Amino acid sequence: PNCIFCKIVSGELPSRRIYEDERAVAFLDIAAWHRGHSLVVPKRHVPDIITGSGSLSEIAAAVDAVARLLKHRLAADGINLLLSAGDAAGQEVFHTHMHVVPRYADEPGLRRLINPGAAPDGELESVYRQIQAGA
Ligand code: 5GP
Ligand code: ZN
Repeated sequence: PNCIFCKIVSGELPSRRIYEDERAVAFLDIAAWHRGHSLVVPKRHVPDIITGSGSLSEIAAAVDAVARLLKHRLAADGINLLLSAGDAAGQEVFHTHMHVVPRYADEPGLRRLINPGAAPDGELESVYRQIQAGA
């Protein structure tokens, strides 16, 4: 399929990749809600967790690892996980993905989770360098 996340997995499209295991890849979201907002996707193309089975278990270990990585490298105060399945739920890219969103004490609470446009210019590159630097 003509899928942007398949192209990110294969390397055909660039991304700031922060983690990878046998079954999953994680990279920074291009439009972060909070500093370090990342997506974890299965390497296999699965449109969503309802129409395809098994995709949640394929990314589970990577989600766990990425949550810890972001917490420690970015000194986050908390983490939200969010996964949407279907148009009605707000899914926009139909390749299963878990949002892993670091949260900071100065902007607390579930109501402030989705905060588009939060990342100023240059933020993605600086957060990427900060995650790499701890490697
Ligand atoms: P959804 O609404 O489907 O759960 O979320 C899709 C997410 O993918 C959005 O947060 C959006 O910013 C992100 N996204 C869309 N296209 C790209 C891309 O080309 N690269 C990256 N890194 N993230 C993307
Ligand atoms: Zn795909």
